Amino acid sequence: MANIVAIVGRPNVGKSTLFNRLTESRKAIVDDFSGVTRDRHYGQAEWIGKTFTVIDTGGFVHGSDDIFEEAIRDQVYIAIEEASVVVFMVDVTTGITDLDDEIADILRRSTKPVYVVANKVDHAKLHHESAEFYAFGLGEIFNVSSATGSGTGELLDAVVSHFEEIEEEDDSLAKYTIVGRPNVGKSSLTNALLGKERNIVTPIAGTTRDSIRIHYNQFGHDFLLIDTAGLRRKTKVNEDIEFYSVMRTIKALEDSDIVILMLDAKDGIEAQDINIFHLAEKNKKGIVIVVNKWDLIEKDNKTMKEFEARIREKIAPFTDVPIVFTSVTEKQRIHKTLEVAAKVYENRSKKIPTSKLNEVMLQVIENYPPPALKGKYIKIKYVTQLPGRTPMFAFFCNLPQYVKDPYKRYIENKLRENFDFQGVPIQIYFRQK
Ligand code: GDP
Ligand code: GDP
Repeated sequence: MANIVAIVGRPNVGKSTLFNRLTESRKAIVDDFSGVTRDRHYGQAEWIGKTFTVIDTGGFVHGSDDIFEEAIRDQVYIAIEEASVVVFMVDVTTGITDLDDEIADILRRSTKPVYVVANKVDHAKLHHESAEFYAFGLGEIFNVSSATGSGTGELLDAVVSHFEEIEEEDDSLAKYTIVGRPNVGKSSLTNALLGKERNIVTPIAGTTRDSIRIHYNQFGHDFLLIDTAGLRRKTKVNEDIEFYSVMRTIKALEDSDIVILMLDAKDGIEAQDINIFHLAEKNKKGIVIVVNKWDLIEKDNKTMKEFEARIREKIAPFTDVPIVFTSVTEKQRIHKTLEVAAKVYENRSKKIPTSKLNEVMLQVIENYPPPALKGKYIKIKYVTQLPGRTPMFAFFCNLPQYVKDPYKRYIENKLRENFDFQGVPIQIYFRQK
């Protein structure tokens, strides 16, 4: 099950400040470097070994005041339905407003865990002021200062208590999901694969799942397709809300091994696609990029190369990802897509024998050893792949803390060159020996 934490609340209480704090990481810095617009409203967070996705609902609200309040209410409904935990943020410096009360009314009817967070409690003397929020009838109040981070630890302890430590999944079949913005061709691809069968598909062990799993077993392929498109909402809130589709995408993604990120060739890769790409990468999913509607593009012999280059530039630094150009309507490269996905799945499950790994990588290291730091030499003695569902490698050395990012990237590139991990995020650790 996907672990999703939705932060709800009226504007200006500090939702995005908390979001940034929770999702803070090296990745965010990389995003800034690569010139990606910083409008991420969902990201990966970790607390005491448990990972989860955080959504800043405020980031999805646009428009005038009326539309605004309605949109906020819609989001609260969606959050109750789709998130695992809801964080309701209020502002201690303004106290309770009408909109706060309205949101609290909706949340009181929820069966999902809800945590009330009094934000901007920057000083201990503000602690008692937050007592007024007990009037919501939503239980304990967490005093937090998103600006300084104080109080966020207690909040996170409570939030992650709802999450499982280990993935409960042990299905032996590969799980694929097709994600992408509306209208890129996701349903068309699903239909093309499943043909007439789609109508007789039934959910596998359905009710507790957030999506339908379809068993595809034809032409030498055997996998589960996680399909969210086929599901309809239980309540009447508008299904086209971006926030809702993002929520569904995240759930499908977390539930899968391989993410097929579909783009429309006419639009190229956009900010939302890049966000999803990073989320898949952080979740250590295998990734295949599919550029669909290739039939609509006027091409010469350079078009594809240029297209590819532009995409790789946008998804940097993780660029070792297969890109397939399809036309679902013309039935072009649909099976190629499956072959590529199957290869990525194989790469993700790959186990390199320790002897082979050491033979190749110790030579690579000897050719270009880590630069000495403060007059100290780093000696890497031994490499091993760690057990796990995704590729992880430990390099044992005398001074692991002296190995810097550029060298880690060099090592990663060499692993990729020598062993083929295309489409797969890999983890590299340096450990004391
Ligand atoms: P959002 O609209 O709910 O996402 O709110 P923002 O995160 O954009 O924050 C609104 C304003 O409150 C900004 O000026 C923040 O700098 C400020 N703010 C956020 N958290 C804190 C906090 O813990 N203490 C104080 N004093 N200000 C905060
Ligand atoms: P979804 O919202 O991502 O599921 O997109 P759909 O599968 O509903 O497709 C949206 C529209 O794009 C439909 O009108 C499809 O017929 C059209 N479409 C899908 N794939 C292609 C393609 O490869 N080429 C062209 N020209 N149109 C396509």
